[in-house]
Amino acid sequence: MKAFRSRIFHFLNRVHYEYFEDGLLIIHQGLVKAVGHYEDLKEEWSQQVEIVDERDKLLMPGFIDAHIHGVQTAVMASYGADLLQWLEEYTFPLESQFSDADFAKKATQFFFRQMLKNGTTTAAIYSSVHQESLEAIMEEALRLNMRIQAGKTNMDRNAPTNLCENTDDTYLVGEKLIRKYEGKGRLNYLLTPRFAITSTPEQLVQLQQLKQKYPQIGVQTHISENHEEIASTKALFPERKDYLDVYEHYGLVEKNTLLGHAIHFSEDEWKRVKQSKASLIHCPTSNLFLGSGLFNLQKAWEEDIPLALASDVGGGSSFSMLKTAAAAYQVAALRGYKTTALQLFYLLTLGGAKAMGLDDKIGNFQIGKEADFILIDSSRIELVEERLQSAKTLEEKLFAILILGDDRLIDCVYLMGKSLKFED
Ligand SMILES: [Zn+2]
Repeated sequence: MKAFRSRIFHFLNRVHYEYFEDGLLIIHQGLVKAVGHYEDLKEEWSQQVEIVDERDKLLMPGFIDAHIHGVQTAVMASYGADLLQWLEEYTFPLESQFSDADFAKKATQFFFRQMLKNGTTTAAIYSSVHQESLEAIMEEALRLNMRIQAGKTNMDRNAPTNLCENTDDTYLVGEKLIRKYEGKGRLNYLLTPRFAITSTPEQLVQLQQLKQKYPQIGVQTHISENHEEIASTKALFPERKDYLDVYEHYGLVEKNTLLGHAIHFSEDEWKRVKQSKASLIHCPTSNLFLGSGLFNLQKAWEEDIPLALASDVGGGSSFSMLKTAAAAYQVAALRGYKTTALQLFYLLTLGGAKAMGLDDKIGNFQIGKEADFILIDSSRIELVEERLQSAKTLEEKLFAILILGDDRLIDCVYLMGKSLKFED
């Protein structure tokens, strides 16, 4: 049993949060046992458990990154291409190297370290098309005891030959990986067609069959990111009425489907995606970096469509979910909508968990949830510390942390109550 005395902040739902200026979080066997004001809880608990004093820090649930590529760290900051060029010139050549298990293991460990240093405790991860790559991701998550959803990327056309799998293997390999990893440790498997362009209808049928046999398995893919991509998709699937209809046709748009980007949706696609209960994943630094467009966060929020934020590394330019949320604020502002710090922190924690179908396990400090949390130490950035002096309300403080903060603010990361410290 462990207890942390700190400023504690978490959401109860999309509008209500709790903030304890002097709070106490009690953890038993990795799960939340109690949370509240120190004064209210101290008598009951101070005899039973040693209290760690972190009163100068802010303790909150770990960040959730709902769309990230475990195989693209080394293409971050590759210059000057839009989506399809960027894939061809930079990304596919790098992903080819992940057929080598040793290379995959090393790169994957570096990748996880970057996420954790930035306070990300849960992510939805794309591997390369190779099993070795997916296994490296799952094994590292098991070693760290991290709550991760990941899938082996499926591609069988419009990519270099060494990144195209044999279409007939899609079902068999997918099933093998589901059996190996689904529900093991804190893992979930996701069916992962990269996007419509790189899958034949035959491959999508096999993924549909897997979804029918294992209906609890989620799906992750890209949609409507870039105009050229949308045009290619229409040309490849002329019988489908729009991009979303390609995935709908193969039974892949349901609750726990994570649709990355969704920037250029038609009114009809918005309507259908809402009915489907699928989740939209907003990747603002990636959308700005590749010049893809400005996601309509206002609409997603007001329609109460399950929504999460994501770095989309390597198209994204930062592992930091603080920087990602700051970019989401700016993208919305360019569309004339002002998001609040509360909305954005909700999306980084409980909202993200909900979008990934994990809100019964993580996202806040409800009793019984897995104790994945971070300590934010504003004194680690002089500018933030100074700015907070003049911030009066909690919301002003959170906003300054979000706009000015980055990985330097993350003092410590805890997975199921166990600390991970990183030396720089
Ligand atoms: Zn992506």
